[in-house]
Order: sequence, then C-alpha cells, then structure tokens
Amino acid sequence: MSEPTSTFRPTRALPYGRQHITAADVAAVTDALQHDFLTQGPTVAEFERQFAAYVGASYAVAVSNGTAALHLCALALRVQPGQRVITSPLTFAASANCVRYCGGEVHFADIDPATGLLDLALVRRLLEAHPKGYFTGLIPVDFAGLAVNLEAARQLADEFGLWIIEDSCHAPGGFFVDSRGQEQRCGNGRFADLAIFSFHPVKHIATGEGGMITTNSEELFHRLLRLRTHGITREPADLVREPDGGWYMEMQELGYNYRLPDLNCALGLSQLARADAGLARRRQLAARYDAAFGPVAGVRVLAPAHPGHAYHLYIIQVADRKGLYDFLKTRQIFTQVHYIPVHRMPYYEGLGWRAGDFPRVEEYYAHCLSIPLFPTLTDEEQDYVVACIVEFLQTGREIKII
Ligand SMILES: *Cc1c(COP(=O)(O)O)cnc(C)c1O
Repeated sequence: MSEPTSTFRPTRALPYGRQHITAADVAAVTDALQHDFLTQGPTVAEFERQFAAYVGASYAVAVSNGTAALHLCALALRVQPGQRVITSPLTFAASANCVRYCGGEVHFADIDPATGLLDLALVRRLLEAHPKGYFTGLIPVDFAGLAVNLEAARQLADEFGLWIIEDSCHAPGGFFVDSRGQEQRCGNGRFADLAIFSFHPVKHIATGEGGMITTNSEELFHRLLRLRTHGITREPADLVREPDGGWYMEMQELGYNYRLPDLNCALGLSQLARADAGLARRRQLAARYDAAFGPVAGVRVLAPAHPGHAYHLYIIQVADRKGLYDFLKTRQIFTQVHYIPVHRMPYYEGLGWRAGDFPRVEEYYAHCLSIPLFPTLTDEEQDYVVACIVEFLQTGREIKII
C-alpha cells in the first residue's frame, strides 16, 4: 500500500486530527436549543451519567474545557503555594499549568522513549532523592492515547503520600492491563484520585470547548460540583446556616464558573454514542500505518501495536523532521508536533528549567511528527499520506536510521 504509484489525490486538506460531525449531532444540538434550559438543564447530568458509565467511574463532572478540569482538580485536592507536583514534560502545557494556578511548583521526570509516557522508574528516583512529603502530587498523562500503568503509579503514590490526577485527554476508551490481567480503563477512578478529559474538536469526542472530570470519591465529587459553580451550594445537608427562604444558598469558598452548557452536552451525548466506532476506526487506521511503515527504513513508530492504545495521535520519528513537515505541507498534509517539551517553554525556563534537563524528551522532540489520524480519514487518503512520506524519504535524501 505504500507504493507511490497511485494517482489518487485527496480532495481535501488532511490535518493531523479533526472532528466528525454527523446529521444526528446537528439534530441533537438543534433539539437542545428548544429546551427550557440552555446552560444547566437535564442534558448536562445525562452526559455526565453516560460518560461516567463509558469510562467505568462512579462520578463525572462536566466542565467548560480540559484546562478548567485540571484547575478544578488542583483546587479540589487543595494544592497550596509552594507545594511540589510532578508531571511529564511531554504534554500540553495545561497539565503543568494547573499547579501554577494554585501557586504550586511544577517538577518533571523524563519519559520512556519507547512509549512517550512518564518513566515511573525515574519518578521513583526523583521521589527517593528527597524526604517524604517533599512532593504532594503526580499528574501522569496518557500520552497520544497510550494508557499509563496507574496500578504502578498508585503504588508509588501510596509509598510517598501523593495524590494522582490522570490527564486522560488523549485516551477516552483506552486501557492498560493490570497485574491480575484485568483491563483498566482510563479515567475509571480505580487508581487515580481524579481523571480529566477534553472535548476540544481534535480529541475523540467533540463538544466545541468542553471537558470532564471523573472520580470514585464522593467527597471530591461534591467539592468539584461546588467549585464549578462559584463555590455555591444549595444542598440542605451542606449548608452551614439556617435557610431564611426557598431562595437560600451559600457561597462557601472561592469557586468559578466552569460549567459546560446544555448545547455542548447535547453534542457530547450524540458523539459519545459513536465513541466506540470512532475508537475502532482509529485503531484500524493505526494498524494500517504500523503495517505500512514496518518495512520503511527511516521511520520509527512510537509505541506500535499496543492493545489498549486509544490513538488520539499517530506519531512517527524521522531524521529530518522539519524537512518532512515542510514537504507534507506542499502536499496538503498538515502534520503537527506533539509536543515542544513543557520545560522548554519560555515561561517554564523563567522558573529555572533548562535545555538538557530531560534529554530523552528533548531527543524525542527533535524527531517527532503527528501524521493524519481521525475516524473519517479514508484508506485511500491514508495510503496517500504513506506514499508522500515514502517519497520524501526516497527522493534525493539520505535515509538515516534514527
Ligand atoms: C487538550 C489537552 C488539554 C487541555 O484541554 P482543553 O480542553 O484544550 O483545555 C490538557 N491536557 C492534554 C494532554 C491535552 O491534550
């Protein structure tokens, strides 16, 4: 399938990821517009209920985006100024920023270059290099859709007294296999205190902007509900004063407006109904890429053929990444780099991090490229992407094995 002999040319630009909106989605949103409530109606709770069931968690809280989800998690876990939290340098900056919102310090451990995930052996080394209590939390990331082994992370967290927020923006429907051979779904709350998801259009489920927090802790669930709406509660059992009328409510702590409107939840519900089909197609496309790149010298696939992989991204590594990125652009293929390591961002360098601090992720960054992967990508379009990559590697360029 990788022969560049085909005359097929796609009729549309091919980005690394894009949403899939159907007539049913449009109908669901149009219908929601006729409801009595546009922001806090029954669709929100229904989306939460169905999403919790999908990932296998007890509770879910819909929020305005994945970044708000991370912020609320940090607040719910009471991150304080000066507290130290460990995350991966290979993630979207928001995974780290939520700690900064609360005045905490962000620390990093390097990745496992075979998977792109936080190397838990290096996390252990970092934890052991300091007295217990030095770090308070861990934010592992299910990078590209590959699930972190949260059972191992939980053991580490228990040993060192850490909480865990699983950043699962890339992995709804993903899973890892635990020590007893059981599949553990991302965000199921079995090992992490809290997990977060994003419904940005490039992610698996699109709501425009949108996000979700899942947990098995009833206490954290109630705190998240309060923090999502200004710190206000109306629950009779939670009130600290005697109500003086039916309107009574209390603002008990400083919260935010991080709600997700009914309209977005209606879209989310409609998308969630197709989530398994989208995931199956992503896995099928990934297997086709794996097969196509197997015999191609000069392309290294990140974490190929992993059963629980949710494939938000399909990432390859090549010697001349910039050359390939520019070349594919001329063929209407718009790839992306995930990610510039967080510690190399000028903001984080301003906090003391430097080039060379995490050599594995820096080496990964020098060669990585996310190529088109989304459920509506056709086999023909995918073959065209492969053919263009092969053409680049074979025409006038020395093939370097990395
Ligand atoms: C998308 C993403 C976020 C942030 O989600 P938004 O909905 O865009 O705010 C956080 N972490 C990771 C790993 C992401 O991919």
